Amino acid sequence: MIIICSVGGSFDVDMAEGPEGYVCTECGTQFKGIGKDPKCPKCSSDKVVKIG
Ligand SMILES: [Zn+2]
Repeated sequence: MIIICSVGGSFDVDMAEGPEGYVCTECGTQFKGIGKDPKCPKCSSDKVVKIG
């Protein structure tokens, strides 16, 4: 399951890199995150690791 996560409500970021895939180590949710410290959209944990 892929969830698009908008971090901080602002997309004023370098879009050249685009959203990257992350997986939450707490609940296993995979999502697309933008920014330096994306959080899990499901459990709000910041214990996420980049995938892909
Ligand atoms: Zn989670």
